[in-house]
Amino acid sequence: MPLHFPRRTLATAAHLLPLLLLTACAQAPAENLPAPSSGAALSQPLIEPADAPAPSFAEWRQGLRSEALAAGIDGALFDRVFAGITPDPAVIKADSSQPEFTRPVWEYLDGAVSASRIGRGRVLLAQHHAVLKRIEQQYGVEGRVLVAIWGLESNFGSNIGSHSVIRSLATLAYDGRRQGFWRGQLLAALQILQNGDIGSDRMLGSWAGAMGQTQFMPTTYNQHAVDFDGDGRRDLWGSSTDALASAAHYLQASGWQPGQPWGFEVRLPAGFDYALADPEQRRSLAEWAELGVRPLLPSGVAASARANLSLPAGHRGPAFLLLDNFRSILKYNNSTAYALAIGLLADNLLRPTEVQGSWPRGERQLGRSERVELQELLAQNGFDPGPADGIIGANTRKAIRALQLQLNWPADGYPNEALLEQLRVR
Ligand code: CA
Repeated sequence: MPLHFPRRTLATAAHLLPLLLLTACAQAPAENLPAPSSGAALSQPLIEPADAPAPSFAEWRQGLRSEALAAGIDGALFDRVFAGITPDPAVIKADSSQPEFTRPVWEYLDGAVSASRIGRGRVLLAQHHAVLKRIEQQYGVEGRVLVAIWGLESNFGSNIGSHSVIRSLATLAYDGRRQGFWRGQLLAALQILQNGDIGSDRMLGSWAGAMGQTQFMPTTYNQHAVDFDGDGRRDLWGSSTDALASAAHYLQASGWQPGQPWGFEVRLPAGFDYALADPEQRRSLAEWAELGVRPLLPSGVAASARANLSLPAGHRGPAFLLLDNFRSILKYNNSTAYALAIGLLADNLLRPTEVQGSWPRGERQLGRSERVELQELLAQNGFDPGPADGIIGANTRKAIRALQLQLNWPADGYPNEALLEQLRVR
């Protein structure tokens, strides 16, 4: 869910995402973490582990207990929940893995917006029509968007993860990277247990603590989960009604504009300046029209609405204008590929909608070590790509554009093999 930090299992959208596509590099989590699901995580500062000798798990738990009690957690509840809890080596392994290869955006979309997911989504949209209408009346978010999130987060509630959330979060807060972030999530999870929303034995989630049918991290859960079926508990595990309404509540809080699309596919004119395809280049639809950017279908959106142009696979692939609601989806999970999948899936739940531009399926993606090499070579050649972390963020995109302009290549800021080759022979 929102706060999507590392989410569900390694099988979710997040870790499938090409890190290249993380939009807001300043907010991106440390490389190769599964993409955070909800925005809250992203605003957390990175806490460096101290130099002091590491405490044992028992010592660490004692310190946590004091902090939890000071925060209002009942001591008996803490002791009951932590009885028998030990660090989970599988969680540490998942937290420290640095996959060399990520799937290209088109492969991710093939899986995320598959015919079977569209079909199942349509059936559920019809089945839950009445409650989705009530949710839309209250929060202003269309049912098809919520069903799309439901589909991607947990395959419509069928895959909510099987890790003990307390054990996973305790492991990460004790021994993971960004321990301060995880400690905050763990304390929030204890708060949820104390509220009586769920029992600790049923509090299951991803290895990284994302919970329930919409994969909310605990802090997001505390802020945005709602009891919409009226049984007195906010139950994102067993109640699809609560889960869908909570996702709507979170999107509303993230600035969702009722009745507005996420964006739409466009066609670019010959000779277009690809440097304009940058998240920082926001213009009104009227200004984009003056630049020759044409929607493939009438969008029905006011000419004053602001959008940025996105080329998720560089200038050889499809182009999209992204409106404010796309940014709201990014707060759920800060990945362009994820937000695009939600938008395209939601569109297809209404009517069949295919991406018209062709993806450069023959093009090989740079692996992590190649992206690091690219950044190192850019720096050596006087461009300023930021730290060589393998993440293609705003600074690296700018550096790539500067090199592309120097080479007289289309300046789309998109890294590829040819560009790396150019740098290698310099
Ligand atoms: Ca409920």
